[in-house]
Amino acid sequence: MSGMNRRQWIGSTGAAIAAGALTDPAPAGSQVKSPEGAGKMRLDLSEFQPKSMLHGPETKVSRARFPVIDIHTHLSFRSKSVNGVGIGEKVEFLAAPDSVLPIMDRKNIRIMVNLTGSSGGGLNEAIGRFQKPHPDRFVTFTEPLWDQSNHADYGKVQADSIESAKQAGARGLKVLKTLGLYLRERITEGPLVKIDDRRFDSMWEACGSLKMPVAIHVSDPEAFFLPTDRFNERFEELNNHPDWSFHGKDFPANAELLEARNRVLARHPKTQFILLHVGNDAENLPFVSECLDRFPNTSVELGARIGELGRQPRMSRKFFDRYQDRILFGTDAVPNGTDTPQQIFVDSLYEIYYRFLETEDEYFDYAPAPVPPQGRWRIYGIGLPENILRKVYYQNAARLLDLTA
Ligand SMILES: [Zn+2]
Repeated sequence: MSGMNRRQWIGSTGAAIAAGALTDPAPAGSQVKSPEGAGKMRLDLSEFQPKSMLHGPETKVSRARFPVIDIHTHLSFRSKSVNGVGIGEKVEFLAAPDSVLPIMDRKNIRIMVNLTGSSGGGLNEAIGRFQKPHPDRFVTFTEPLWDQSNHADYGKVQADSIESAKQAGARGLKVLKTLGLYLRERITEGPLVKIDDRRFDSMWEACGSLKMPVAIHVSDPEAFFLPTDRFNERFEELNNHPDWSFHGKDFPANAELLEARNRVLARHPKTQFILLHVGNDAENLPFVSECLDRFPNTSVELGARIGELGRQPRMSRKFFDRYQDRILFGTDAVPNGTDTPQQIFVDSLYEIYYRFLETEDEYFDYAPAPVPPQGRWRIYGIGLPENILRKVYYQNAARLLDLTA
């Protein structure tokens, strides 16, 4: 397909989407005669499910070659959230241990880390449900008291909360993208609070002195900061989740968020930061590498980003070679979800991660879904050697979480 024709094709697909929004959608699979005539048909982008004609190895990796720590999962969530900010301690559970453990056993997952364990009473409940009865299988992280961040004594209250969380059994702190994109001066209203705001200094420091790593989600994929239009390669994803768009309004630019994060990393060198989602810049590995080189107190995690890594297998393979001691396996898995196939806690999700990391299979789906949910491309395995697999699957996380055995 020449550049010219490809452009025209994309153009007409965009037009079909716009038309679809105004009129009744055609029944699935239908092909409508193009008004342009000449025997051409029109196809709504949402109905396009091309089957690859590529013949090549299809390796089924039903079990990881070595035991795994999934450092990024969500087994509980704060029950209440207003404008993206978690309020209060109360938690809701997405699954019971008995429904999670069989999948873990089948997939060779030794430990699942439930990042969103809330704080106070909610944290105790989350620990009591998973970690207490199965201390060798579940780890729990605590979360900041966002709804108290405008109190005068917040710094101390927050640091104390981290300390009691540690005593209760939490092994780290999870910071959602709430910081930078949702939390406001009056919690749910007013100007956005900056990631490097000084009120959080005591929180980062407490994590450092208590040896609790901070799993931090800052910003989001670059495409989420661009208009949701026909030039956005993640159009369908943003169209399916309009609340994921951070284009316009009073949202800072992606680069501004990452720079503020980097100032926090620089200011708290004794605190270990796990930059979730490959530092949320997996499509700019030179930038992520620069960050890892500059800040020895950081590592990255893979959750929901193998789509981005797997579309650039040669660059990714070099990245894994170079940072093999600082990359952690994670999926962002959520039990019983339905709307984000790249995160649903099922056997097939793990099989895709293992295939990406362990094989050199080419051009396969990065999520168990009929249409690639994050963008219309496929991925390539990077065939990591045993020693790197062991580190990424288990050893790097075990070291950070201070797990013996
Ligand atoms: Zn997550």
